Amino acid sequence: MLRFAPSPTGDMHIGNLRVALFNFIMSKQLNEELIIRIEDTDKERNIEGKDKEILDVLNLFNIEYSQVIHQSSHVKFHRNFAIALMHDKKAFNCFCSTEQLEMDKKEAKEKKIAYRYLGRCENLPADQVIDNMAPFTVRLKKPLKSVSFTDKVKGKLTFEPNDIDSIIILRQDKNPTYNFACACDDILNDISLVIRGEDHVSNTPKQIAIRDALKYEKKIEYAHLPIILDTNGQKMSKRDNASSIKWLLSEGFLPEAISNYLILIGNKPPVEVFTLKEALEWFDLSKISKSPAKFDIDKLRFLNREHMKRLDNKELSRYVGFADDEIGALAKIYIDECNTLNDLREKIKPYFEPRDEDGEFGEGVKIIKKLILKSDHIQDFNDFKEHVINETGLEGKNFLKPLRIVLTNSQDGPELAIVYPLIKNFLKEIAS
Ligand code: GLU
Repeated sequence: MLRFAPSPTGDMHIGNLRVALFNFIMSKQLNEELIIRIEDTDKERNIEGKDKEILDVLNLFNIEYSQVIHQSSHVKFHRNFAIALMHDKKAFNCFCSTEQLEMDKKEAKEKKIAYRYLGRCENLPADQVIDNMAPFTVRLKKPLKSVSFTDKVKGKLTFEPNDIDSIIILRQDKNPTYNFACACDDILNDISLVIRGEDHVSNTPKQIAIRDALKYEKKIEYAHLPIILDTNGQKMSKRDNASSIKWLLSEGFLPEAISNYLILIGNKPPVEVFTLKEALEWFDLSKISKSPAKFDIDKLRFLNREHMKRLDNKELSRYVGFADDEIGALAKIYIDECNTLNDLREKIKPYFEPRDEDGEFGEGVKIIKKLILKSDHIQDFNDFKEHVINETGLEGKNFLKPLRIVLTNSQDGPELAIVYPLIKNFLKEIAS
């Protein structure tokens, strides 16, 4: 089983989505289930409704999963695991106050050494534990040996007991810490491969140490994906618009193009433009680059255009806000000049806006509009043109310019013979 484990503490950003996509692809390739684990044990940071929003994004991107689990519903299991570790003397109660620990940290800083738990409560005699009324956390004893694992992207990594330290597994309020909840749930959900961002690399040995202490034998594989940098080579910040999925969608980028881009960067795919379904055929996790990927919005724009071209007329029409195939076909005329759906919408919008009747060709525009309203529907453009000439007596520039303005709301643009069949059904609406 694989899992995508978002925290409902903010909007999905491209890094999260990339992790979700990779998990989905690998679950398909391995023929294993993908579950969504909402990591909501940090109540103070949770934002109401974010879990639902994250699931909406996953659905929009066609990321299929078998179930959604809220981690908070597992807290009783996490506590039972902690009790088992205490029985086994692998974990102990730590009565150190926050002030005491702060002082220890300050001292370490003054000595210019990395702070590690000093082991004060590790071997307290039983009576001192029983008689102690102070609030306590539960800590896992520091492992005795180093912990190694072979990451599918980063290769072999080894961490010393001191890198891992005696980590807190239950807080004073007896709620699990992130690492403990995560390690327990990876057991409970029988996870076989964890794909997540590289900001979690230092958590992995801690989670392995927790599972080792619980005598869990199944080996879980790991792939930590490199971070995504902005064009200046800096870590992409949450304040960076382009890192927000919501923003990219609102700018008119297609989900398929965003997926394509996030699978493409730091990768060596056989083709550059592809759908998520196509990527399932050739995606190879071992080909993902160790170095950070760089976000390039121009590349995303290019891919977006290519994916807009791949849409059929009906789909394109829906994306620009209409139900008719013809409007999709009309939008296609402009695709090469557009990067996003928003650009396309801007091209279609004027067709349905009032024409300028006060300008140089205003009179002609009025005359042609009036004629359209009282005429029968005309299929063919040449017949239409002839009808207008015959009925209005307009000629030359005074015929062609107003005609173009009536049909396209612009003085220049695509050939009218191409546009006419696509908008002929809307002419009465346009002229009224
Ligand atoms: N909740 C973590 C995050 O959103 C992911 C943890 C994990 O995948 O293990 O970064």
